[in-house]
Amino acid sequence: MSELITIEEARSRVITMVTRLGEERVQLGSAFGRVLAEDVRSGIAVPPFDSSGMDGFALIAGPEAELEVIAESRAGHPAEAAVRPGTAVRVSTGAVLPEGADAVVPVERSEPSGDGRVRVPATEAGANVRRSGEDVRPGDEVLRAGTVLGPAELGVAASVGRASLMCALRPRVAVLVTGDELTPPGEPLAPGAIYSSNGFALAAQVERAGAELAARETVPDDPEGTRAALGAALEAADVVVVSGGVSVGPHDHVKGALAELGVEERFWGVSLRPGKPTWFGTRAGTLAFGLPGNPVSAMVTFQLFVRPALAALQGAPPGAPRASATLEEAVARNPQREQAVRVTLRHGDSGLLARPTGAQGSHVLTSMLGADALALIAPGEGDAAAGERVEVELL
Ligand code: AMP
Ligand code: MG
Repeated sequence: MSELITIEEARSRVITMVTRLGEERVQLGSAFGRVLAEDVRSGIAVPPFDSSGMDGFALIAGPEAELEVIAESRAGHPAEAAVRPGTAVRVSTGAVLPEGADAVVPVERSEPSGDGRVRVPATEAGANVRRSGEDVRPGDEVLRAGTVLGPAELGVAASVGRASLMCALRPRVAVLVTGDELTPPGEPLAPGAIYSSNGFALAAQVERAGAELAARETVPDDPEGTRAALGAALEAADVVVVSGGVSVGPHDHVKGALAELGVEERFWGVSLRPGKPTWFGTRAGTLAFGLPGNPVSAMVTFQLFVRPALAALQGAPPGAPRASATLEEAVARNPQREQAVRVTLRHGDSGLLARPTGAQGSHVLTSMLGADALALIAPGEGDAAAGERVEVELL
């Protein structure tokens, strides 16, 4: 670890090495969370026809009147009759506006006057009418390639009649956790052993990033086992994420094994706390991340370096949303390294307020609970004072 590079530099070295994956057609019902790989234009108007915005009576706008109700237009069942002066057609919300009508009086503003007639107040043309194409006009681009498909995007795609969408292939990610001390939850702890948390936390981060977990394995601290597990992972996955074993101790075998397997180092060591001993390399198009073993460091470095790579592999913007927030408590600066402090956010009178989640040690995994963002605290002497504005990256 000769010189530490900045978070920005590390990120850009990662993004530079990304080649976008291919694409596949995905049925709308399975596309939640996927990244769109095409621009979507609508072939139709939405709504496709002029329709009623209320349950009520379609009529010709004019002064207060008593009208004869001659037909009904229900959703999905247009009326056959046209509205003429002196008549009205009963309509439901979303039903086709009958021919001849130019306004709708809501049922609660009308009054039945017996004998199939209705009293209506004075009405202006266009009242309670939804025009065809008010939402989408034919030919409109409704969705852009690179968009992550959430509930609204899927709804809009369906509204213009798309049954399937071209989506980026999901990156296949192998998560390997290293350490002789690691014990699966549910088993008794031997002396010196701990429960392995990284495999679960990192796998969930992989899924949240829209990627697919190709493997999750625990690897012992020996060179052969490490090489074998990494070799298999490099064959099976687009991205290999290893936690632990990436430092310079006699029982850290990850860097050596990756080098033997032909993975070329792109950086090792980031001016970041927690997360200094982060390693990144590539072999052909495959990306390999050696994340520090400490659970907070592993999650933070995943967020800062792996998540952007998974987005970029799918053609989505790699940057996570950032904002500026005011510290509610002083944070001691680190003299050399930028800090990623886990904070909760709330709204104050002059914008967002950030409060650290508690003790910030890289082994204090509970500091991730409830965290809304990472506050990025520049290195320096003394404190970042309460009231100081800092940049936060939203989680
Ligand atoms: P290492 O990077 O291998 O030196 O590990 C640093 C610290 O992280 C040690 O205290 C490890 O026990 C801990 N650690 C490594 N892997 C895991 C894991 N999967 N779950 C929880 N703690 C871990
Ligand atoms: Mg270890």
